[in-house]
Amino acid sequence: MTRRRWIAEHWDEATATLTGAQAEHLTRVLRAQPGMEADVVAGGHVFHAELAAIAEDEARFNLIAELKAAPALPVTLVMAVFKFDHMEWGIEKATELGIAAIAPVITRRTEKHLAQAAAKRVERWRRIAHEASQQSRRSDVPVIHDPVALAERIRAASNANRIVLAEQERSTTLRRAMEELMAASGEEMPEFELAIGPEGGWAPNEEALFDANAWRAVTLGPRILRAETAAISAMAVVASFLE
Ligand code: SAM
Repeated sequence: MTRRRWIAEHWDEATATLTGAQAEHLTRVLRAQPGMEADVVAGGHVFHAELAAIAEDEARFNLIAELKAAPALPVTLVMAVFKFDHMEWGIEKATELGIAAIAPVITRRTEKHLAQAAAKRVERWRRIAHEASQQSRRSDVPVIHDPVALAERIRAASNANRIVLAEQERSTTLRRAMEELMAASGEEMPEFELAIGPEGGWAPNEEALFDANAWRAVTLGPRILRAETAAISAMAVVASFLE
């Protein structure tokens, strides 16, 4: 039987502790008792563990043995803030696909009320990423950055290969760009940033800024995809080169 996986908030060499909603779920919903076995992620390592003590607000596991774990893919999704329900779906799916980080950005065509509400939404996005990580049996939770203005992210220093998904691009497909970038990379695993625009797409000055800062524009094909579909498709293509 596959053991449930939990991501601990606190740990030391021998134990790991879940608190808050996770501990509550264990006591109230699962009615967990000491002795229950689980896989517990502590500091990016996965352990076979056994529940040692449980109370309403705290569950302490003894760590029995470390298990093999797959690391996150070295990909950051630079995601325009768009309709929250669609965006949350994108965050959940990108987490399942193994993304390392998500950087929400406020773009010219991000709706005003969403831009204003974005900062308060980050905790919810982090919770979604945490739950999706547990569900998909990841050994870590993707980092969800605080939202920043797009220009700040475009100009930020980075060692990653920077790719912008642009529906106007006609010649370079993401697949072709990945083939070239992988061929050019040395022995070390290359890192990637993938930028996805909002429902209204990138504004012309944003496209120019990407271009001026050496982001490579690519297409996912002739059809216009919803932003969240574009994010997941792009992630799947990149993952196929990295796994
Ligand atoms: N401006 C478009 C329009 O209204 O016709 C829609 C933009 S699309 C819904 C949102 C984002 O998804 C785009 O900014 C781009 O990053 C990405 N995207 C959608 N379809 C794409 C494609 N075929 N190739 C590359 N990126 C795409």
